[in-house]
Amino acid sequence: GKIVIAIDGYSGCGKSSTAKAVAKELGYTYIDTGAMYRAATLHFLNQYVTLTNPQEVEKALQNLEISFHLNPDTGVQETYLNGLNVEEQIRKMKISSRVSDVAAIKAVRKKLVAQQQQLGKKKGVVMDGRDVGSVVFPGAELKVFMTADLDTRAGRRQAELLQKGEMIPLEEIKANLSSRDKIDSSREVGPLKKMDDALEVDTSNVTFVEQVAKIVEKAKE
Ligand code: C5P
Repeated sequence: GKIVIAIDGYSGCGKSSTAKAVAKELGYTYIDTGAMYRAATLHFLNQYVTLTNPQEVEKALQNLEISFHLNPDTGVQETYLNGLNVEEQIRKMKISSRVSDVAAIKAVRKKLVAQQQQLGKKKGVVMDGRDVGSVVFPGAELKVFMTADLDTRAGRRQAELLQKGEMIPLEEIKANLSSRDKIDSSREVGPLKKMDDALEVDTSNVTFVEQVAKIVEKAKE
């Protein structure tokens, strides 16, 4: 039968490309929870929300609507914020540098986790993030925890951003990845941590094809 696959791990270690490939291979739906926190961050920036002001946060959350739609031309799933396609915007450094502070707010997590649980209800999903195996779907049949050393992650991320037209110095990317890891691991709600029952996949030493195959194989067990 169909299962829920939770893929968590540090920033920039290839969770989303791996999760996408695993989903494709199994005929599952891919859900990018990071995209949801990124879209919420863009919304908060657009609304000039003061993160330390609970009333402002609450008000902004009330008119935050995130959805995913398949682009029929590319077959790629894209993120929408209040009906607008924000896929490109949310991948920019401007969002990456602020997202972890927004994601640390309890009310934000409460709303997005509820939506994620709704999206994953029908099983046959691969969901990637930081707290999927611990909070969103603690009962997920397969949990994966991905890691890779910082230099490997930063190099890959730099190439990705360059492809999208953003040229960012390696040092700045490294600083962003480690700062997000630190904030994500130390927050009070839904901190990033490896669950005891998670399969650990270190992507610095294996090829993309190998790591996808390993997860697909486990999913079929
Ligand atoms: O996965 P991605 O790197 O796009 O996620 C962006 C940020 O969103 C993370 O650094 C983290 O702060 C937040 N996030 C989270 N919980 C998740 C997924 C992402 O807090 N499940």
